[in-house]
Amino acid sequence: MMRLMDHFQRTIDYLRVSITDRCNLRCIYCMPSEGIIPKEHKEILRYEEIIRVIKVATALGLRKIRITGGEPLVRRDVVYLIASIKKIERIEDLSLTTNGTLLSNYAKELAEAGLDRVNISLDSLRQDKYREITRGGDISIVIKGIEAAETAGLKPIKINMVPIRGFNDDEIKEFAKLTVKLPYQVRYIEFMPFGMHDTWAPEKYMSTDEIKSIVEGMGPLIPVEYKKSGPARYFRFDGAQGVIGFISPISHHFCQDCNRLRLTADGKLRPCLFSETEIDLKPALRGGAPDEEIERLIRLSIEIKPKGHHVSLQNKDLRTLLKDGSRRHMSEIGG
Ligand code: SAM
Repeated sequence: MMRLMDHFQRTIDYLRVSITDRCNLRCIYCMPSEGIIPKEHKEILRYEEIIRVIKVATALGLRKIRITGGEPLVRRDVVYLIASIKKIERIEDLSLTTNGTLLSNYAKELAEAGLDRVNISLDSLRQDKYREITRGGDISIVIKGIEAAETAGLKPIKINMVPIRGFNDDEIKEFAKLTVKLPYQVRYIEFMPFGMHDTWAPEKYMSTDEIKSIVEGMGPLIPVEYKKSGPARYFRFDGAQGVIGFISPISHHFCQDCNRLRLTADGKLRPCLFSETEIDLKPALRGGAPDEEIERLIRLSIEIKPKGHHVSLQNKDLRTLLKDGSRRHMSEIGG
């Protein structure tokens, strides 16, 4: 079996594909209120181009594909894309990250097209707070979307929450409580210093240790071992239906286990979320290059994948880094 290994003995088998930089929400920590200037259509990879990259990547050894954005469900014919990817041999896991607002329209079709599961980003369970965080979103639509995903069999349902001190940290326990009666995976992701430098601040960041100790205030957490858990560490309350996960990109770097590459909506391979180094596939894709050239570029992006990132609260350059306007927003890279 083909395997892609980098210089640090990490097997690279996971590709996250952003299919659009557009989003129908404006989450305060992700985007400026005016949104980002969307790239022109011609800048964004066409589906045929995305499918070609995925085919070459899977022939090389990639096995897991996640579709993300922007909001992937705002892009037209996304069901066609999912069905086309599903037909590619050797893909073992096909998932999608969404804000859930369009899931009730698409969940059934997506499942029928072969999507295995969805991750839903949800940072508040309260209507007013949700509207504030998303700058106008309606949580009742997201709840219907989650239910539709469950009915369609897109399981396990994973709900991702980013706790921000002084903003939604008072809901950490409410999220954990969901897992008692529902078979969901509620995952807390540390607030990362991205794009919106006026929103992120060390004071607003909450470490996994802190979040976990708040959850433990509700009762002891029992570790749950999964064969393939990625960067999350999982636990559950005794007798609970669901599980609780913690993802700690800042406090406990998981770089040594990083198995992923990212493909941005405008066709750049990004070996590390925190590094601006990218390899542009578009000239090759649009210049008539053969698959061997795409393969070479994929291998190159794995060759330059850094050993780790240096983003931590101790990093004194963090504020300078944040003020660097050339850094991409999460919605452009595909979180
Ligand atoms: N629109 C889709 C969604 O909402 O899931 C996919 C794109 S969104 C950029 C992907 C994920 O990035 C979301 O779960 C969001 O919470 C997360 N995200 C964005 N900015 C972040 C930040 N500064 N720190 C942690 N997570 C962030």
